Amino acid sequence: MSPECLVIGNGIAARLFALECKRNIIDCAVLTSSPVYFNQVRTITLNPISFKFLQKLGISLDASPISHINVFESEGTGVINFSAHDLGEDNLAYVINYDNLLRQLDELTKGMQCSADEVEDLSNIKVRVFADKDKNFSKHQTDFDFIEHDYDQIAFTFHATASKLQRNHAYQTFFNNQIFAIMPIDHSKNTFTVVWSIPKDFATEEYVRDNIDLLGQQLNTDIAISGEILVFELSSSRAKEYCIPGKCLIADSAHSFHPLAGQGLNLGIADIDVLVDEFKKAKSKGRSLGDIKVLKKYEVRRKLLNEAMLNGVNFLNYLFHSENIYTKFFRNRGLRLVNKIPVIKNLLIKNAVGKIKI
Ligand SMILES: Cc1cc2nc3c(=O)[nH]c(=O)nc-3n(C[C@H](O)[C@H](O)[C@H](O)COP(=O)(O)OP(=O)(O)OC[C@H]3O[C@@H](n4cnc5c(N)ncnc54)[C@H](O)[C@@H]3O)c2cc1C
Repeated sequence: MSPECLVIGNGIAARLFALECKRNIIDCAVLTSSPVYFNQVRTITLNPISFKFLQKLGISLDASPISHINVFESEGTGVINFSAHDLGEDNLAYVINYDNLLRQLDELTKGMQCSADEVEDLSNIKVRVFADKDKNFSKHQTDFDFIEHDYDQIAFTFHATASKLQRNHAYQTFFNNQIFAIMPIDHSKNTFTVVWSIPKDFATEEYVRDNIDLLGQQLNTDIAISGEILVFELSSSRAKEYCIPGKCLIADSAHSFHPLAGQGLNLGIADIDVLVDEFKKAKSKGRSLGDIKVLKKYEVRRKLLNEAMLNGVNFLNYLFHSENIYTKFFRNRGLRLVNKIPVIKNLLIKNAVGKIKI
């Protein structure tokens, strides 16, 4: 194996990048290890553009569509309702199973995978693409500078049944410094997936089990946890630069942040789409894939949008974790105001469904 491009990472992004390279006849190998699965519990919500991207790569997955998103501020009367209809779309998002996606990607990239020992022989490599936020995965990733932030929160994710929630609707509620999101996964069984982030001081599995009824009351339904509860420590990391000659970062390795907007992998997929597009253009002009001018074009097209999302998510996180009386007033009024101004509302949702591109 002697590829021009080596992508390094053990998650979804590295394998997706390798497949997109293959589809565009770019010579790429993936330096990876055994996938880490999550007992079928973890889910990912994808916007329609990301979902189509997977289909284009020949990935077929069961997906639960979301046509409406309802966001509440449970300490007040603030609310925003987003509908696919307002955007002229069928759906706003699709919920898929993380393990099923990773398993398919692992199968589809088998012939492109290589081990660390084999890499030593790869003298033809023009560019190394890092796609794993674990900086220990490759020593080369330490060539980049990052800004790190700990949210001091834990996200719990699990499946639950709820009999009175509307089909195809996702709900998100902000209360007592916590963010609770519930999305459909199996309509016939009224099964949902939950991501609930809680300040570290009192974030225990016991707290989750003891307080799930309270959440149900807020959404006017009963909610029962089914199966295992997964735990994720929440932090953010952003690279100051996405590329240096011969090396660049994509997806969570370049930008990882709070899951409150369900945007992490969506941004990663947009990075992959743009970087492979720049590689294609470079090849047609006879340029090296590791040329800093080629890599910078990718950075220019992606960094601003990623930073805007990351800052927006961090601002929302701050807004909904503040005990300040003025901030509480602002967020309550703000939600109601945004709900009444179609231009702002459409801008927010267009951004979330991936329709804003450079
Ligand atoms: C609770 C939660 C909910 C999310 N929901 C969404 C969503 O709805 N939509 C969306 O677009 N994005 C969501 N994200 C973000 C999304 O999961 C990441 O952006 C995406 O997985 C990044 O892909 P990756 O290949 O870069 O990294 P990963 O798929 O995370 O893999 C990177 C590496 O980390 C390892 N790894 C990952 N997690 C663990 C763990 N817990 N323990 C040990 N090893 C681990 C993998 O094996 C791999 O080596 C969510 C993240 C979290 C934490």
